[in-house]
Amino acid sequence: MSFSNLSYVQPTSESPWGTYLGQIDRVVPYLGRLARWTDTLRRPKRSLIVDVPIEMDDGRIAHYEGFRVQHSLTRGPGKGGVRYHPDVTLEEVMALAAWMSIKNAAVNLPFGGAKGGIRVDPKALSLKELEKLTRRYTSEIGIIIGPQQDIPAPDVNTNAQIMAWMMDTYSMNVGATATGVVTGKPLHLGGSLGRVKATGRGVFVTGREAARRLGLDLQGARVAVQGFGNVGSSAAELFHQAGSKIVAAQDHTGTIFNAHGFDLAELMPHVRSTGGVAGFKGADKIANDDFWNVETDILIPAALEGQIDVARARKLKTKLVLEGANGPTHTAADDILAERGILVVPDVICNAGGVTVSYFEWVQDFSSFFWTEDEINVRLDKIMVGALKNIWDAADRHKITLRTATFAVACERILAAREERGLYP
Ligand code: GLU
Repeated sequence: MSFSNLSYVQPTSESPWGTYLGQIDRVVPYLGRLARWTDTLRRPKRSLIVDVPIEMDDGRIAHYEGFRVQHSLTRGPGKGGVRYHPDVTLEEVMALAAWMSIKNAAVNLPFGGAKGGIRVDPKALSLKELEKLTRRYTSEIGIIIGPQQDIPAPDVNTNAQIMAWMMDTYSMNVGATATGVVTGKPLHLGGSLGRVKATGRGVFVTGREAARRLGLDLQGARVAVQGFGNVGSSAAELFHQAGSKIVAAQDHTGTIFNAHGFDLAELMPHVRSTGGVAGFKGADKIANDDFWNVETDILIPAALEGQIDVARARKLKTKLVLEGANGPTHTAADDILAERGILVVPDVICNAGGVTVSYFEWVQDFSSFFWTEDEINVRLDKIMVGALKNIWDAADRHKITLRTATFAVACERILAAREERGLYP
């Protein structure tokens, strides 16, 4: 495996950037004459590391590490979320930014790829401290973001309120209200209907199409969801509405199981009020590791990276994996799933519903004309179905996995644009 010789990261075959590089290696044979541009994809265009100091409620001055990486700006402005998590590193943000480039190109959105993050446990901060952190971070990365430069959005542990603070801070600094600088905003501030549930909806739409091709009936299908945040819970709701049974769920609070399926009308309020799935009365508590032993038809990893390793890939009892999270599967595990005939709809298409509705939001902000929720959902469905079909055709044509096919479609778009623009100077 080639580990681009960047001096500032030491990827391994299982770390996020190493996983991404392995995925790039696999696509090279399908790039034809564009392959000479591949190293462009193996290094981010621009990485910004910022110090984010804030005064805590008790008077202490605390410093946090913040990042914004623009992996590619070839096809348009940077686009991608911002995550707040104690494990955030430059290497992780680089991989997440690169996956945004692939995702945006796979769905043919006119964006490059970017991502941001702060190494912080947001649950340990008061609301006031969270606001200060967000505003200072936004000011620090203000030199590279903007409605035409790079447009952040929510990701793990960030939400519409945080986007409102980002939009306000950027607007204050430039002296004009700039709604298009972030997406995933509240509706009062130029947010879009349907954005909150869009990622989960995309997971459902791609899952529905994949199930149809597998001859798997969603009615009665057994579904397990890892991560019951915005993405996992929205996807679970849609599968539930389609008649599937959500038999297992896992989050940072624990793992629950019910062979008959959960009553989501009870589980959702439980998660909202207690902050997690643990303690839900309508299910049994099981050991965290047993989540991977549950027999299912559909497994949805919708938490963090690196969840499906070789050992888990060997024992999974499922037919279809829908990657709601970014980067949940190690490359070696991917091969085992393929050998075992378990179909994987990869993150870079499966969870693209969020950024697709972010694109709708950005367009609506520019035109100051807002669409109905129905229009949004119908357009989202159409775009996701079309993109997946195109990828599936490429997979059939080259006899490759959906992941490599998605990379092939996306990298070809990025590198063709790269070549047409030419190298400056
Ligand atoms: N954070 C989401 C993702 O990983 C959405 C990004 C966006 O809307 O820009 O795709």
